[in-house]
Amino acid sequence: MTHEVIRHLLDDYVTGELTEDARSPVADHIAACEICAAEVESLKAILARAADLPKSIDPPAEAWSNIRSAISHLLELLCI
Ligand SMILES: [Zn+2]
Repeated sequence: MTHEVIRHLLDDYVTGELTEDARSPVADHIAACEICAAEVESLKAILARAADLPKSIDPPAEAWSNIRSAISHLLELLCI
């Protein structure tokens, strides 16, 4: 596989989504190619940062109560 092809596989390589068959030529290329090695390092850093983020961000309680009162106000206007 060429550098151009492998570059597009690096995300999947880092996230582990690459098939076993595809992993070894990609790994060999990364070992030999500084550009791809650097790309893998930065992808890993991005992934590590993403893993530190909370899985879901709950809106603050007051946002919910505002939303709820806006909905009930709307329902009143619509006479439901
Ligand atoms: Zn490369």
